[in-house]
Amino acid sequence: MKEEGCIFCKIANGEIPSATLYEDEDFRVILDLGPAAKGHALILPKEHYPNLYELPDELAEKAVLLAKKMITKMKKALNCDGFNVVQNNGAPAGQTVFHFHMHLIPRYEGDHAGFGWNTGELNAADREEILTKMQKFS
Ligand code: 5GP
Ligand code: ZN
Repeated sequence: MKEEGCIFCKIANGEIPSATLYEDEDFRVILDLGPAAKGHALILPKEHYPNLYELPDELAEKAVLLAKKMITKMKKALNCDGFNVVQNNGAPAGQTVFHFHMHLIPRYEGDHAGFGWNTGELNAADREEILTKMQKFS
């Protein structure tokens, strides 16, 4: 299943050339054109699914195993000091390309990649509300 006009469908299936680090029957792993840090890569499934909610379980399992395999190899190859594995769902969460993908972002001591968020404090009302709401969907 491909989506007409989806750039990641075209890249994943080799219709548009990319710097490919890995390829198998389900996935292509490419270098991001706008890297947050040197070696920033993307795992793209060859089939089109907009986000993690809609990704079949079998591909979700394979994607996580592939992420593990890739960052293990990239850590040795790039000699980086850490990794962020990031996956955005929905525009408010920062998703800009609506074809499921995982970011593999190598981190180096003292880099200025700047990934993170502002932290708050869990208050009692939110805690109870969330626990109650989640129980309804278990
Ligand atoms: P998102 O914000 O959706 O989680 O991530 C989209 C990522 O795709 C961004 O990091 C952006 O730099 C990258 N990107 C967008 N278009 C292209 C492209 O045509 N080729 C490659 N290699 N990366 C792209
Ligand atoms: Zn697509």
